[in-house]
Parts: sequence; C-alpha cells; structure tokens
Amino acid sequence: MKYYKDHYDVIVIGGALAGLSSALMLADKGLDVLVLERHNLPGGIATSFVRGGIEIEAALHEMMSIGPKENRLKVGKFLDDMGVDIDWLQVPEAYHASLPGVEVTLHPGLERFSREVDAQVPGTYEKVLKLLQLCNTVFNSVNELSIHPMSKPQMLLKHEAFVKTAGYSTKEVIDTFDLPQKAVDLLAPYWIYVGSGFSELPFTIFSVLMADYIGYGSMIPRKLSHEMSLKMAERAEAMGVQIEYRQQVDKILVKNGKAYGVRTARGDVIRSDYVISSAYPNAVYSHMIEPAREVPEKATKMVNARRLSLTAFSVIMILDRPAQELNIHDYSIFRGDTMDTDVLYENLAGLGPYRYLTCICHNYGNPDVTPEGTCSFSITVLPRVDGWKSVSADDYDRVKHEVAKQLIDDMSAYFGVNLLDHVLEIVIETPMTVAHYTKAWNGCIYGYAHTMQDHIIARLQTGNEERLIQGLEFAGAHAISGDGMGPQVTNGRKAAKNILDDIAAKEAAKK
Ligand SMILES: Cc1cc2nc3c(=O)[nH]c(=O)nc-3n(C[C@H](O)[C@H](O)[C@H](O)COP(=O)(O)OP(=O)(O)OC[C@H]3O[C@@H](n4cnc5c(N)ncnc54)[C@H](O)[C@@H]3O)c2cc1C
Repeated sequence: MKYYKDHYDVIVIGGALAGLSSALMLADKGLDVLVLERHNLPGGIATSFVRGGIEIEAALHEMMSIGPKENRLKVGKFLDDMGVDIDWLQVPEAYHASLPGVEVTLHPGLERFSREVDAQVPGTYEKVLKLLQLCNTVFNSVNELSIHPMSKPQMLLKHEAFVKTAGYSTKEVIDTFDLPQKAVDLLAPYWIYVGSGFSELPFTIFSVLMADYIGYGSMIPRKLSHEMSLKMAERAEAMGVQIEYRQQVDKILVKNGKAYGVRTARGDVIRSDYVISSAYPNAVYSHMIEPAREVPEKATKMVNARRLSLTAFSVIMILDRPAQELNIHDYSIFRGDTMDTDVLYENLAGLGPYRYLTCICHNYGNPDVTPEGTCSFSITVLPRVDGWKSVSADDYDRVKHEVAKQLIDDMSAYFGVNLLDHVLEIVIETPMTVAHYTKAWNGCIYGYAHTMQDHIIARLQTGNEERLIQGLEFAGAHAISGDGMGPQVTNGRKAAKNILDDIAAKEAAKK
C-alpha cells in the first residue's frame, strides 16, 4: 500500500501547536497538506502524561490571547473560526507575588490590578493604571499592525504611542513613571514568560505581555494542553490534512535554492511545493538541508548571531491532600528573593540555586483536574540554555536531583509543610527532557531571546529577508512572535500566510 501521495502542496514538519495551526489555515484555503510528526502523539510540549492513573499536565501554566467567548482575542478567535472547540476555563487570578517584603495576590483587569498594587504601595494607583493603559494602547497597535502593515508616517499618525516607545527598553519606559521600586516589583513577575531582564526587554514585548495577561486574564483547557493538540489534530484531519505520526524528517530537499520535499528517517522521499519547519533553524541549517551546499551562507550567520532564550526545569507533583490543607492558596505563585530582573536573568545562566521560580496549582483553575482529596502542584524555573549545556552525562542525575531538591525545599519552607511527605507522584522535567521529547534545540522552549537589537518589530521588518530558501518557512517558538503556546498559533498562521501570499503572487503573475 502506498503511504504517501506523489506530491503535496505543503509538508509541515512537526505536529505541535505551530505546525497544526499552519495546517489548519492552509487546509481551510483548500491546500493539500501533510504533517509529519516524529512522536506518536500531536502537541509537542503541549501534552500530558499519566502516572498512577492520573493525567498530568506536562507544561501549560496559562494561555494568553484567548479571551472570553463573547470577546475572543486572536488565538481564541482563530481556534473558534477553525472549528476547534476547546472547553476553556478562566484562571481566577493574575498571580500571587511572593517577593521581599510583600505577599499579595493580584487579579486581572487593568483597574482592579492597579487598585491592588495601590493597596500595597499607597498613592500609585493613577501611575500604575496609566502605565497599564499605555501597554494596552501599544498592544492594540501591535495587533493592528501585524495584520495591516503601514508606512512610518501613517504609523506615526495612527499609532503614536507604539512608535514613540518602540525603541526603548522596559526599564527606560517604566523609569519615566517614577514609581516606587515596590510597585515596579509587583509589575515585574511575568517577565519570565518572555525571558529577558527589563534593561534588555523591548517595551513593546512587555506591553503585549501585560495588556494580554493583566487586561484579559489567562485561560486553560479543561482537559489540559493536550485538549488543544488533540482537537486541533482531529479538526485538521477532518479538513483533509494527512497527519503521520512516528515519522521523523531527517532532510529537507533543496535544489537551486528551492525546497521541493523531505526525506524521513524511514527513507521515504516525499515531494511538495512548500515545507514548513517546526524544527529550529539551527537544526535545519546545521544538518537538515540536503545537499548541504544549498545552505545559504547568510543562514549560518543568522543562527549564529541569534541568542537562544530560556529552557525549562520543572518538578511536577501530585500531592495527597487538597491544596488548602497544604497551605497552598493560589493558582499561580511567582517567588523571588529579588525582583531585579537583570540580576535574575544572570542567575538563570547557571545550575542553581535559582532565585526566581514559578508555581502552579491547577486545581484552583480546574477543580476536577486531580481526584478528590489530592492536588497537582508544580515548581518551575526557566534557566538559560548555557548552564545546562555543560552538564555531562555522568553528572546529569546528581544535578537534576539537587536542583529539584532546592526547589522543593524552598516551597516546603514557604508553606510550612514538607511537600515530600505528601507526594503521590513526582516527575522531574529538565532541559534534556524537553530536548529529547521535542527536539527543541538545546531544549530551548522560547526560541531566540528578545533583545533591543533583535525583537518582534525588527523581525517583522527583516522577516522577508530571512526567508533564505524559497518555499521553506519556519513555525515555532523560534519564529517571529516568539515563545509560548498562544504565540505558536500566531507563528503557525504567519508561516501559512507567507505561503498563501506566495501562491497568490504567482497566480497574479500568470495573468
Ligand atoms: C514546563 C513548561 C511550561 C510552559 N508553560 C507555558 C505556559 O504556561 N504558557 C505558554 O504559553 N507556554 C508555556 N510553555 C512554552 C510552550 O510550551 C512552548 O513555547 C511552545 O509549546 C512551543 O511550541 P512549538 O510548536 O514551537 O514546539 P514544540 O512544542 O517543541 O513542538 C515541536 C514539534 O515538532 C516535532 N518535531 C521536531 N523536529 C521534528 C522532525 N525533524 N521531524 C518530525 N517532527 C519533528 C516535535 O516532536 C514536536 O512535536 C511552557 C513550556 C514548558 C516546557
């Protein structure tokens, strides 16, 4: 029996959120799409696993860009439009901040959040609200400009705040508000979701982060992140996409600067007009292009010039008591012994002790997520890839257990409960787990770091110049919109749009 057709319009490498979003959008426009996924399930990092009969979330803390049913944000709207029906649950709070001298739970809603900060740092309400409103204005501009690009003079007229702040770091803009440090600290916890200290983090990225998460709150799927992957894959197949699991793509076939198909580890050569890669450009340009002489010199320079962002280390536990009985009272806790994000960023270069961590108790957003009388609790740090790259095979087990112990001890002391006395199941995910499971380059889950030299605005401007092999697009955390499960949907759509625009341009040229 023949496994593959002779030819596809598009082959997508990787059946995770980015790849599946591309497939959905292309199938919706009538293209013939093949998705090749090396794992036996869709989703990549957006997955779950079962221990002791309990399904456990592998990664997701919270999704951005979903929005309530009556006012969907871009990711929620796309999934709705594609007929991917997810049972979304609203996360009840923004976060609990456990920082030097402050313990407070803050909630979404720009005004509510500002009032709650004001209750901790009296007299800051107006300034904090003004800052968040500025974030919101920039966020609206980013959303509009990503769909309707415009000339600089037009932009200046319609998107003044965006243009005026675009060249500045988060620190530079926040400094102009002259807020007490404690208030700045309370605005900072989400920095880890974009992974750059405030001196290096473009204000535009901070704005999108804050306006989306604080303005609208975050969501989670009732059946864990795997609900997204499974339903997207199911819907894509219903729309005619062929998805083949356990099929690793080893090579992207290129002739005269144009991609024309792939070769799988099993040896199948499959032809297509376009290829979308969820594999990192580092992997593609270092060993996946066949023949290797087709790798453009600029491609090697480009991947070498970019800095990989963060990876993840996570201790995921199922505990034998309801959360309240273990003094766990929040969905999300960000805890640090400083909130100087530049200092914390440096701390993430090593192997611990880590000074900033994030914890999730899913039961507060999804009460039935574990059996009655138990709860799920995870502790995560997001280190830079640098330190973990240096861990030898001989040292791996020791380092993994030392880091896990540090995190568990820290949170046990915080709750006044020895969490290890209550463990029903425990799983330790390391950067190596991520690399092994998804093939993410060096286990990097965030793609390339957002810096003042290299961020979404610059990437949008240079995006076309970086399409170095005709017919080859990238979709994943390494693409323009960067890291996170929500942004993967946007990255996947962008890769699909590039292909649709290319096809439209060719059709127009024929006329
Ligand atoms: C512990 C943890 C917590 C996180 N929490 C959050 C959160 O709360 N909110 C959030 O938004 N994001 C979170 N993230 C980040 C988020 O999961 C990632 O940014 C995102 O899922 C990356 O998606 P992706 O589509 O780029 O890639 P991946 O999920 O890495 O998927 C890549 C896919 O491509 C496949 N593949 C790769 N190479 C090949 C090949 N050669 N052939 C065939 N298939 C291939 C892989 O098997 C995989 O399925 C978290 C991540 C971790 C690890």
